[in-house]
Amino acid sequence: MTGGALLADVATAAAAQPTETEWAAALAAVTELPTDGRVLLICHVNPDGDALGSMLGFGLGLRRLGVRPLQATFPGRPEVPEPFRTMPGLDLLVPASEAYPDPDLVICFDIAAVSRLGDLVDRLDRAGASLVLDHHASNTRFGRINLVDPDAAATSVVVEQLLDRLGAPLDREIAECLYIALATDTGSFRFDMTTPAVHEMAARLLATGLRPGEISRRIFDTRPYGAVRLYGDVLARTQLEPLAVDGLGLVWTYATLEDLDRHGQRPYTLEPLIDSVRCTAEADVSFVLKQVAEAEWAVSMRSKGATDVSRVAVALGGGGHRLAAGFTAYGSVPDVVDAIRAELGRGAVDPGQTGPNLQDQ
Ligand code: AMP
Ligand code: MN
Ligand code: MN
Repeated sequence: MTGGALLADVATAAAAQPTETEWAAALAAVTELPTDGRVLLICHVNPDGDALGSMLGFGLGLRRLGVRPLQATFPGRPEVPEPFRTMPGLDLLVPASEAYPDPDLVICFDIAAVSRLGDLVDRLDRAGASLVLDHHASNTRFGRINLVDPDAAATSVVVEQLLDRLGAPLDREIAECLYIALATDTGSFRFDMTTPAVHEMAARLLATGLRPGEISRRIFDTRPYGAVRLYGDVLARTQLEPLAVDGLGLVWTYATLEDLDRHGQRPYTLEPLIDSVRCTAEADVSFVLKQVAEAEWAVSMRSKGATDVSRVAVALGGGGHRLAAGFTAYGSVPDVVDAIRAELGRGAVDPGQTGPNLQDQ
């Protein structure tokens, strides 16, 4: 498929909301499960707050409805990042190697494309039915049933609606999962998609008795001393290219496995790093390369508004949203940086949008 066709798909997907037919099919997939039907929940590799929170919140909802047997999993190393280790519903988690090989129903959370399913991709073919719950405009609709709402601030928005339609009670544990998901993807209710509906959902969740200050401190504002020192090293090598991206500016850095080793830190420690880079006033576009293996990097990209970084990420084999996207890159740091610069030069900048100095709020 050409880049042009891929971009057309992104544009088409962005316009579409789940239809009543799709909601009805999703409801039926759950309510018409065979007795003792096995349900496998999967979220994306390297799970973030939305992936884990949406999956575990929905899993707890299914459990309350009496759905068993039930498993939750994600591809890759079965390691839950430290900040999420008190999330309700973690007892549903199994390593990918132990996930039902042929579930009756597989449900995917916050997964834009099958590449984010890793080794678990075979479960899609072997499952009796598959349901995709997501909010990425770049979602390829790889399920048999797809509930994809590109206007939703988080996958947990779609999850809350489906739980409501299923008649599942919104208790404090479910609410905590969905709140962590919503707070993660809205940047703690700071990003543009923080609509009145988002605050209304947050109000419903908080009304179950959640303590937002305690949750934020645990999830977003706590990191080991070694991580603080690691950030110091990695931020010290940040590069600013003020003339790049049609003069809107580009800022970037990279973190190696050796950096992690030196400070005794796990890879997930680097997930919030992009937030310390994207704040650079002189650049619309930012990215961070996080080394995964010898010549393999997880790339996080952000824009303040003038650049569609999902176009760059999709063109380079990944996905995401207009202002937050990512992909896996192969080669040396200069190779990857050159590939991103080249893709940014292919029309990712939207001349109708303002640059960083005008709208970085
Ligand atoms: P991150 O920079 O990891 O926070 O990701 C930003 C956005 O890009 C999220 O919506 C991710 O789902 C998406 N994303 C990140 N990496 C990939 C990838 N390798 N493939 C597809 N989407 C990705
Ligand atoms: Mn995610
Ligand atoms: Mn999400």
